Amino acid sequence: MKQFTQQLSKFDPITGVVEGAPPAIERRLSDLKGVFADELAYEAALAEEDSLVYSTYCVAPEQGDGAMLYCIGKFMPGRIGAEYYMTKGHIHARPETAEFYFGLRGQGVMLLEDEASGDSQLLPLLPNGAIYVPRHTAHRTMNTGEVPLTYLSVVLADAGHDYEVIAARGNFRKVVVDLDGQPTMLDRAGFLESLSR
Ligand code: MN
Repeated sequence: MKQFTQQLSKFDPITGVVEGAPPAIERRLSDLKGVFADELAYEAALAEEDSLVYSTYCVAPEQGDGAMLYCIGKFMPGRIGAEYYMTKGHIHARPETAEFYFGLRGQGVMLLEDEASGDSQLLPLLPNGAIYVPRHTAHRTMNTGEVPLTYLSVVLADAGHDYEVIAARGNFRKVVVDLDGQPTMLDRAGFLESLSR
């Protein structure tokens, strides 16, 4: 007989916490060196306060091929120059694994970048909205609003995180900036040039 031992897990869409679970990831500004294009604005913000940017809590009931997990993420609102607070961004260590994101509270966007073509897409991450991150796609989340953003993500348990692939080519090819109150995707090179003027 199969013994079913899993417990009910409860996530809180406001606090972004799973009851009784330790945080899987907690990232402060100091953990995000090299993520923001505007390095002067980043250093200035970090000198002021090493703020908490985001945290995740995850539930992985089983391991092995085909097993799944979910995480709840809580993202603080903030800007570094014209850029929004954002995640480090990753592709899966098993890049053939896709992922779903479901918005719970607040306003955000996700930047997707296809590994083969380098093509990018910017999608809104909003309450009751689902974003499908296709296989072989790097992804980064941002809070574009003024209140904490919370979301759920669902993925294969052994998908993993690879940050090196993106770091090795410098960063994501696109930056997302607040342009007249609208999240706007720009070429990184053009944005860097506008900063140096
Ligand atoms: Mn992922």
